[in-house]
Amino acid sequence: MSRTTCPDCNEELQPIKIIDATLRSAGGSGHGHVELSYSAVDAERSLFMGAFKREGTIQGKLCPKCGRILLYAGPK
Ligand SMILES: [Zn+2]
Repeated sequence: MSRTTCPDCNEELQPIKIIDATLRSAGGSGHGHVELSYSAVDAERSLFMGAFKREGTIQGKLCPKCGRILLYAGPK
């Protein structure tokens, strides 16, 4: 369970979307929202899809007071 308040200043955290910075050829960076995900450190790319095996998503929360961003592992 992710926390709802900032560990530094105890302000209420706001959920945020991480803005894409990977598709610079498609109209510049920051044009799309991406759902960040993570894989195991020793994960190898799939032979068929060329993608890493996805273990879960990453969800961000922002403290509007101090600007701290916390990242939490979410469901697949
Ligand atoms: Zn804070």
